[in-house]
Amino acid sequence: MGGSFKIGRAFGIDVKVHWTFLLLVVFFGFLAYQATGSAGRALAVIGLILGLFVCVLLHEYGHSLTAQRLGIEINDITLLPIGGLARMKSLPERPADEVKIALAGPLVNVVLAPVFFAVGHLLGASPFSATGFVSAADSAGQFFSFLGVVNVLLAVFNLIPAFPMDGGRVLRGLLATRMGPVRATDISSAVGQGFALLFFLYGLLGGNLLLVLIAVFIFFGAGGEAEIVRQRELMRGLTVRDVMGTRRRTETVTPWHTFGQVLDSVIHGYQMDFPVVDEDGRLVGMLTRNEIMAAAHSPDRFSEVRQIMRTEFPTISPEADLFAEGQKLLQESGLRAIPVVEDGELVGMLTLEDMSQASLLRDIRKLQQRPAPWGR
Ligand SMILES: [Zn+2]
Repeated sequence: MGGSFKIGRAFGIDVKVHWTFLLLVVFFGFLAYQATGSAGRALAVIGLILGLFVCVLLHEYGHSLTAQRLGIEINDITLLPIGGLARMKSLPERPADEVKIALAGPLVNVVLAPVFFAVGHLLGASPFSATGFVSAADSAGQFFSFLGVVNVLLAVFNLIPAFPMDGGRVLRGLLATRMGPVRATDISSAVGQGFALLFFLYGLLGGNLLLVLIAVFIFFGAGGEAEIVRQRELMRGLTVRDVMGTRRRTETVTPWHTFGQVLDSVIHGYQMDFPVVDEDGRLVGMLTRNEIMAAAHSPDRFSEVRQIMRTEFPTISPEADLFAEGQKLLQESGLRAIPVVEDGELVGMLTLEDMSQASLLRDIRKLQQRPAPWGR
């Protein structure tokens, strides 16, 4: 993010601070000095703000370390006046992962709150004795009690289902297990923007500038992320299932078919590569155009399929990535068709023709791709 500078690094993640954050620190220090006329109290208030942001930082580390464990790289964590931001290299693909990552942040605050309350209590303060930044700087006990309250607020506020806040991400993750990711994002974005409008009005009427800022952040964040998800779904790698010829469209032969019958299929059909399936529906061989050509010009033309079929051949899963795996396997095997197998059963066939159609489709998609309206 522009205007940020690095202050440290832990667990392989850079921690950055946006310059406006320093403005916030100076501003609150100044307010405290004006209210109390004491430089010591002003410093205590500044310490309190720094303590608050350590809690925000730990919250972001909760998200980041969970994401790292699930295989997602973290670019950096940036501290802004309105909170922290952990930037991930990619968005979690699985809805369950998104829910875990989103919950990990508030969970850190749930753990921290009682710790601060306990420290405050040991230092002789009751949990809710501090009502604001300035009174929280009255004593060490109130200082820690206030941080306890701050952590309760951080947990509760972040769990409001206003996407892209944590609660909104949880909502999206839960919705995405029931519907597609695009629709889940659209719904949670709409809910998030609804909350943003409420926050905006409430902040404006109550004169709470911070709430107004957060409302603007949520509103545009929700719209921007919805667009990113839409783009990702559009460009998502096709799977073998997306383009393969289905089982119904794939002609199969049995081991006991004669070569003459196969030749008949070749002449009257569209296929030159045949999966060989036994009476139990199991895939037991492949009869490719190579075997058919070779047999046609040899005494093999009087034999049965089981005598000339190949029994060594690759298969592929319907969920395999089309370009990364399907195309590669076709090239490496030198075959023009590969049986697609799921749970040991033939579900279709992937051919070179399917691949060339998919490549065309991919090129068209690339042409249609437009830049997202919000750069992030
Ligand atoms: Zn969070």
